[in-house]
Amino acid sequence: MIKDKYNKKTIFSCEVFPPKRNDDIYDIFKTLDEIKLLNPDFISVTYGAGGSNSKKTATIAAYIQNICEVDALAHMTAVGLDESALVTLLNELKKKRVNNILALRGDKPRDMSEEDFERRYYKHASDLISVIKEKSDMYIAAACYPEIHPESKSKEEDIKYLKLKADLGADSFITQMFFDNDILYRFLEDIRKAGINVPIHAGIMPITKVNQLGTSVTLSGSSVPKKLSNLIAKYGENPDDMKKAGTEYAINQVKDLINHGIDGIHIYSMNKSDVTTEIYKAAIA
Ligand code: FAD
Repeated sequence: MIKDKYNKKTIFSCEVFPPKRNDDIYDIFKTLDEIKLLNPDFISVTYGAGGSNSKKTATIAAYIQNICEVDALAHMTAVGLDESALVTLLNELKKKRVNNILALRGDKPRDMSEEDFERRYYKHASDLISVIKEKSDMYIAAACYPEIHPESKSKEEDIKYLKLKADLGADSFITQMFFDNDILYRFLEDIRKAGINVPIHAGIMPITKVNQLGTSVTLSGSSVPKKLSNLIAKYGENPDDMKKAGTEYAINQVKDLINHGIDGIHIYSMNKSDVTTEIYKAAIA
């Protein structure tokens, strides 16, 4: 269980996502075989809100748990689940010996109407957390947002619901990506003051390609500091230089976080083992 790892100084983990094409599942297994060599404390697998790839999430989590012999953390979203589907999913994960869940609300999938999204059975991650807690002995992680969730009206409201997730049984939080460590340090100060004391895993997204800014970063709502936008302006035209500069930026972020005593570093691997390995070797090993 991930819980048993908290006596370590810094927990190291990575995130992968299921490939769109079924044929590409072997590529992710190969990536996992390489990431496993870094001896991570856990590897998480994303889940398509709406359940479009829930089978693949469970299959990949089982590979991590039973073949790589690394603790697997399976993401799960409230969007697309009612009670019976949740129980089926919990049983399936249990059967696969996956005992750790990242409980999320999820966003509206492109092919879901606004009405169906609003009518969802579980409204928030907090609803999922209390049901998972009641029906299983799973380790439960949840998401947090150093720059507040884009739908939160204020920092106070964001922290109020974060505390609810912790009070209902979230064992830890993984942060949304952020590129300015000072934002995380201020967030940590605020949540500790509010009485949220569970471990925080800092989500680090290495920016190795310019188009990441147009996709994942924009969607996340995370701000891009001048130092990073300057790097992109300088190296963006040259893929090799951009990869090097983006990896270096992430390495410096991780080194600083570890110096500040962060509980965990969670690398958004983008299914690439080389950048994750480089960050691990330079900043964590
Ligand atoms: P919630 O905790 O429900 O919060 C959403 C909003 O509602 C916030 O504004 C919050 O303040 C408010 N709120 C929370 N609880 C309550 C309450 N009880 N009553 C009223 N308001 C409330 N998405 C996927 O589809 N698949 C993934 O695998 C995935 N992995 C992710 C991993 C990480 C580490 C992170 C940070 C995000 C991930 N996401 C994933 C995205 C996530 O689903 C979205 O950010 C989504 O918009 C919010 O999810 P949440 O669990 O934080 O929601």
